[in-house]
Amino acid sequence: MSNSLVIENICKQFGSGQGVTQVVKNINLTIPEGKLVCFLGPSGCGKTTLLRMIAGLETPTSGRMSMTGRDLTPVPASQRDFGMVFQSLALFPHMTVAANIAYPLKLRGMDRAGQEKRVSELLQLIQLQHMTNRSVAQLSGGQRQRVAIARALASAPKLLLLDEPLSALDAKLREAMQVEIRQLQQRLGITAIMVTHDQREAMTMADVIVVMEHGRIAQIGTPLEVYRDPVNEFVADFIGLGNILPAHPSGPNSVQLAGGQQIQVDASDKPARQFPAGQEIRLLIRPEDVCLQMDQKINAAENCIPGEVTFIRDVGSSLEATINCSGFELTVAASPRDVPGLKLGMPVMARLPPHSCKLIDASPRA
Ligand code: ATP
Repeated sequence: MSNSLVIENICKQFGSGQGVTQVVKNINLTIPEGKLVCFLGPSGCGKTTLLRMIAGLETPTSGRMSMTGRDLTPVPASQRDFGMVFQSLALFPHMTVAANIAYPLKLRGMDRAGQEKRVSELLQLIQLQHMTNRSVAQLSGGQRQRVAIARALASAPKLLLLDEPLSALDAKLREAMQVEIRQLQQRLGITAIMVTHDQREAMTMADVIVVMEHGRIAQIGTPLEVYRDPVNEFVADFIGLGNILPAHPSGPNSVQLAGGQQIQVDASDKPARQFPAGQEIRLLIRPEDVCLQMDQKINAAENCIPGEVTFIRDVGSSLEATINCSGFELTVAASPRDVPGLKLGMPVMARLPPHSCKLIDASPRA
């Protein structure tokens, strides 16, 4: 039987009577064996509460969780065989690296020789063999991070749960640790769930991203799926940079933008005719999909919009520009060598290739 974690109709409310808050609302989800799944969403959307219920640190108000067919609901946290790494790491600062890693093994009654063998394996795994007897207080942030992960892996858990484990690190170290944790997870083939509100982190690390909004799942998909085919404006906006332009359906495969421009969309994608006539929808186009032409005269063909450059950020390897297109602005990402001589105030033509234009539902206004 597969070691997938199955989550069915899980709900969580806090408080009672008038003060009741529904924090997690009817979540159904399968965490596939051997995959790294990220719970991603804005602050307060219920990610941590869901993770804590999986860990057994919080009891669901209703619903069921099971692994290998075994109902987890009555199983206390200490008997779930899950490893956890919290944002705070919760290491014992005055104990050595080895003592920290051995701690869960000691709690389980493993003999001294067994503990030493396992600690040595784990130290090798995280490449801190030379720091066995150093106090945790004398380690760098990244080294402490690795010790926390080794401790969570000590008892060979069935599931590794990571709650914003990198948020205390500076940007560079954080990126290095993202790669390190991902490589470790893939090498061990362990199933892992990570909570993050950082979409770049989720895109870098996850096999599957679960995007959450107000206690519900907005979308489940691979990083590419949620980036390329977001189900609605919330997901499109949360994942990556995007031009999300108000539009109205104007034909079977065309929409009209705020400035009156007619835009053709790809008939093989969700066509404009699927939306009720007159409904305000959104046209999504990612910055790297907008083609910038430096001469407004060259091409007044399909889906070309004249505009003026109002902002340029050139970081050498890539360039980002804002184009004011009477009625809306477009963000464009390009390679600097594709747009030589681009200058502020320059008239340009922005082409929106039909196959790169996605039509999506507008999020309800709060
Ligand atoms: P963040 O990224 O800020 O950690 P999150 O998505 O992880 O946010 P949760 O920590 O799951 O969100 O919290 C979801 C909501 O539940 C929040 O509004 C929070 O205030 C509320 N909440 C969490 N724990 C409790 C509790 N023990 N009692 C009452 N409300 C709670």
